[in-house]
Amino acid sequence: MRQLQTTYTNNRDLASTFRRWRGIIEEKPCAAVAHVFIRFDGDQSNRFSYEIIRKLFETELPMVPFVGCSSSGQIYYGHITDEDVVITLSIFDDPTTQIHVYDYPFHRIAIGQGKQIVRYELNKIENVRGIEVLSAVTHDEFLEIAETVDSFPEEIEVFGGIAVGDEAHTPVSFTHAESPSSDNVAIVVYSGENLHIKTTRINGWRPIGFPIHVTSSSEDVLYELDHEPAFDVYNHYLHIPNDKNFFYNALEFPFQVTTPNGNTYLRHAKSSNENGAIIMSAHVPENSLLRMSYGDPNAIRSELIKGAKCMRRFQPDGIMVFNCLGRKLFWGSEADNDIKELADITDMLGYCALGEILRYRGKTVLNNLACVVIALREGNVRAVLEDPEEAGTQKKEGFDSSDGVISLASRLASFINTMTEEMMDANNRLQELLVRATVDDLTRIYNRGEIERRLKRMVSICNQTKGSVCSIIMGDIDDFKMINDTYSHQEGDLVLSCVAEIMKDVLTDEAAEGVVGRWGGEEFMILLPRTSLRRAGEIAERICDEVRNFIFEQHETVTMSFGVTEYRQGELLTEFTSRVDENLYYSKEHGKNQVRMV
Ligand code: GH3
Ligand code: MG
Ligand code: MG
Repeated sequence: MRQLQTTYTNNRDLASTFRRWRGIIEEKPCAAVAHVFIRFDGDQSNRFSYEIIRKLFETELPMVPFVGCSSSGQIYYGHITDEDVVITLSIFDDPTTQIHVYDYPFHRIAIGQGKQIVRYELNKIENVRGIEVLSAVTHDEFLEIAETVDSFPEEIEVFGGIAVGDEAHTPVSFTHAESPSSDNVAIVVYSGENLHIKTTRINGWRPIGFPIHVTSSSEDVLYELDHEPAFDVYNHYLHIPNDKNFFYNALEFPFQVTTPNGNTYLRHAKSSNENGAIIMSAHVPENSLLRMSYGDPNAIRSELIKGAKCMRRFQPDGIMVFNCLGRKLFWGSEADNDIKELADITDMLGYCALGEILRYRGKTVLNNLACVVIALREGNVRAVLEDPEEAGTQKKEGFDSSDGVISLASRLASFINTMTEEMMDANNRLQELLVRATVDDLTRIYNRGEIERRLKRMVSICNQTKGSVCSIIMGDIDDFKMINDTYSHQEGDLVLSCVAEIMKDVLTDEAAEGVVGRWGGEEFMILLPRTSLRRAGEIAERICDEVRNFIFEQHETVTMSFGVTEYRQGELLTEFTSRVDENLYYSKEHGKNQVRMV
């Protein structure tokens, strides 16, 4: 296969180029397809340019289907350009290669029946190697498309790009048969016995600092990170103010997102609102893990070199690139950096998109800040062992860190990452110590020290708040010594753990604010903030019942006795606990297995 390119300057020139292309196709009839990328904010509107081009295709190249979309940074002869229109004709050589172009109104794919129709039509094609999608859909709509194409066998590559637009220019996609529309999904199916497609996604942004949890988000809006307003994270760590430069400043520090089901991609912040929410470049699911990442030009370049190397080995006849518009903005006047390594390999078409589509391990994902590369080849790899040009690439550019050229940014980032790891280790050890200092080893409930601290706090809050109540329950296992003596100390331990578990379960059910701790050997203390004596009595009764009804494998029923009391404003802590103790003693004296509340 090969790719021929042209721009649009006037009808006469384009007509003559098309006639020349037609001559080439007619020499050896084979499959062909054209890509038309029209700059979204170009001099002429998308619709106007489309009409002219469609008519010329109709008269001069009627046998060639075409697809395209509103775009930015159209790739023309190995450069990212500002051309208004770039048209690329891909001509295939192998007689078995076939190209099918479809367009579906998105609102039809959104319904189950529409999905089935797409699947049915695409399933009729043999030896499908790749499916290209060009569309102006939103991220939620994209998920519907992804669901449709992901039902195809995993080895079929899926790739493409989201059309570019802004407030003043509606993003659109189109084909030879369907005029520009934001509701259009243009699909190209590449098939053929001897057609090979290899894809890769190049990023280059490096994670930095602590992982952060997305505790509240909806579609592309991040509300809270670790329960704090999302914007505060940016502001706290990066001092990026919420002003008109927010987008450009934030672009250097996008988030690396790891979703709950294990997908990873980059999302960058587009803007933030006055409530501290951040509008992201696309969907960020709740419960994802985020790591801030930074764009270091040298690190990105070295990823680009690696990606290009891998593509070169594949020996493609043609390359397609869906590069992120954010990357183009990141590089500024050096936007060609993203594709110059690829430009050395072979012909290339593509544009800078608002989202880069690529299937990875069977799941089609919408990426941001990615450079998605698709390499196509007809026939087998030609035997070339060492490509001298490839061997020279690194030396020539001097980008690779092995040359000792590591930027200051890289060094600082690795310094921060090492510090972060050490801090996270220290933090984990601290957490462990904290648990050990507050939790009882055997029963995994609070130990005496912690429950006493909490008791003091509860009473003090109760004293400070007029009209507030709180209660406590003290429970003691009946005839526990006998369980130890008759069965074993281990069995006694098991009973203690079971009883603690029962008490926790009842609290989860009945008093979310309640906590339980081990007061002594087989004695337990339950704290019930904002709970009256009557309610505390009910909770104690329920625990008493649940313990009595619990079936132990090794021995008969275990019972417990309880004392319950409510705090009286102003009294000493010892008066409070003595009263609960007396009530417990009363229960023991009056036949055990009961609750006494006063
Ligand atoms: P009562 O019904 O009057 O409460 O009688 P009791 O046998 O339950 O009370 P007593 O105070 O006579 O005995 C408590 C026993 O609990 C004595 C002690 O060996 C045992 N014990 C204390 N801590 C543990 C422990 O962690 N594991 C086990 N297995 N036994 C313990
Ligand atoms: Mg006891
Ligand atoms: Mg006891």
